[in-house]
Amino acid sequence: MKIGFIGLGNMGAPMAANLVAAGHAVTGYDVAGVTVEGVAQAGSAPDAARGAEVVITMLPNGAILRAVAAEVLPAMDKGAVLLDCSTVDVASARAVAAEAEAAGIGFLDAPVSGGVGGAAAGTLTFMVGGSDGAFATAKPLFDVMGQKAVHCGPAGNGQAAKICNNMILGVTMIATCEAFALADKLGLDRQAMFDVVSTSSGYSWSMNAYCPAPGIGPKSPADNDYKPGFAAELMLKDLRLSQDAAEGADADTPMGRLAARLYETFVEDEDGKGRDFSAMLPRFESRGRSD
Ligand code: NAD
Repeated sequence: MKIGFIGLGNMGAPMAANLVAAGHAVTGYDVAGVTVEGVAQAGSAPDAARGAEVVITMLPNGAILRAVAAEVLPAMDKGAVLLDCSTVDVASARAVAAEAEAAGIGFLDAPVSGGVGGAAAGTLTFMVGGSDGAFATAKPLFDVMGQKAVHCGPAGNGQAAKICNNMILGVTMIATCEAFALADKLGLDRQAMFDVVSTSSGYSWSMNAYCPAPGIGPKSPADNDYKPGFAAELMLKDLRLSQDAAEGADADTPMGRLAARLYETFVEDEDGKGRDFSAMLPRFESRGRSD
């Protein structure tokens, strides 16, 4: 397939490389001038998009997505598909979908989970919003870049699924970390805590698969001095998106709101920036009761 790829950062570069390895013809563009082996370099975003059957974007946020879409949609062929894999606000995804539709172009919002490791290994999970036809066009590309693509409904629903999932993740990681810190102060051994909780009703992905306590459970960023993994500032981004969406939809999300505040303090006022989001455990460990 002839593919345009815009945004060749930590995630986009390995995703584009996997498409090339699978035999697709990929033309890429990144404002920072990044090059990827096997990807033809275009001089601008519209140049990367022209003549492509699918144009993939992997960009930092919704404002940039809107700006890039305004440039590339006029350059794209009617019937082609714009496939945005960035994590952005639901409103931006739906706005770009409407512009694409007006131009006779398909649009899918398909944010991913799996991080940089999943992007390199081609094992991402895609959460996809958009039409059945556009989904069918993009399906072979999801199969190359990922291990699973869930069609969640119309445009915007992929982003909705992503931020709901990550709101649960942020809240459960905080709950797991504060429980470990409490267990420490009660004299409960961390291994015993893990052995009980991981097989009891407090279990979760945060405890069982990504345990925030070093040396406990399967290998995780906690065992590597909390190097990300999934950086605290990316969790903060997703929690903020969840709160923007909750505000717009008049949804009551008190735990999500508190999780966003805690990660904001951790990233902006403490030492959380650049650390894995599970480094909430040493944060709680070093504190006493705050109210
Ligand atoms: P990144 O900052 O490494 O990459 C973004 C790239 O977009 C950069 O190379 C930047 O130069 C480029 N860019 C910015 N503006 C541009 C423009 N106008 N035209 C062309 N290129 C432009 O970020 P990343 O880690 O690759 O993340 C990309 C997206 O994926 C984000 O939305 C992020 O939230 C999401 N995501 C990241 C992870 C992760 O673990 N890194 C996991 C899941 C989802």
